[in-house]
Amino acid sequence: SGCWEPQYRVVLLGDPGVGKTSLANAFAGVQERDLLEQHGEVAYERTLSVDGEETTLLVIDAWEPERRGEESWHRSHCLQVGNAYVIVYSITDHGSFESAAELRIQLRSMRQAEDIPIILVGNKSDLVRCREVSVEGKSLQNHVPSLSPCPVSVPVSPPRVPCRGFCCAPGAGDASGAVPPPCPPLAEARACAMMFDCKFIETSAALQHNVAELFEGVVRQLRLRLEGK
Ligand code: GDP
Repeated sequence: SGCWEPQYRVVLLGDPGVGKTSLANAFAGVQERDLLEQHGEVAYERTLSVDGEETTLLVIDAWEPERRGEESWHRSHCLQVGNAYVIVYSITDHGSFESAAELRIQLRSMRQAEDIPIILVGNKSDLVRCREVSVEGKSLQNHVPSLSPCPVSVPVSPPRVPCRGFCCAPGAGDASGAVPPPCPPLAEARACAMMFDCKFIETSAALQHNVAELFEGVVRQLRLRLEGK
């Protein structure tokens, strides 16, 4: 409280073209955008009032795709500096969803000791006719109906080892010795691993839908972690 406002760095991750810059612009607002370029980072600063308290977020849009043979200093720097992460994919591009899953695993392994908020964002929700990723994180094109759905809404603790194509739910199958459910295809299994311990929201940067809710959610996640200490 008082005049001191905490400031947090929120790093946007995700494939090129998924809408990271558009989300950052929608967050900052065209009028009040405060574009800073420091050390090659593009950051958008804004103070939000959430639940009657002000918090300043510095949203960093500096993620670059992996290039062959490239030193990954920049990428690992991005994975180190965030107080919170927004991992963006496009609902119209299942490949970007798979990348998001990999990023989630990379991030978790780099920041193992820390409990940093990670929000998974399915952007371009306005493009309903081109949807390739359902809300449950299953591919619509390659959907295999007999598979049990990933337990995204089941409150389970994160697995101790990353999910590697085996069934996602700890204790899946049952004690009666019945045959365990079949393994989902690898991409969906990764999706399961990613979903653990991860908030999720669909947005449309184009329509400004859920963008405010996304960043308010980030603030609440950060505060929850702070209170837990
Ligand atoms: P980035 O490479 O992840 O920063 O993606 P951009 O923000 O540059 O967006 C890539 C393209 O997708 C641009 O043409 C945007 O106008 C478009 N785009 C971004 N967000 C949305 C959205 O929510 N809906 C639609 N229809 N297009 C979007």
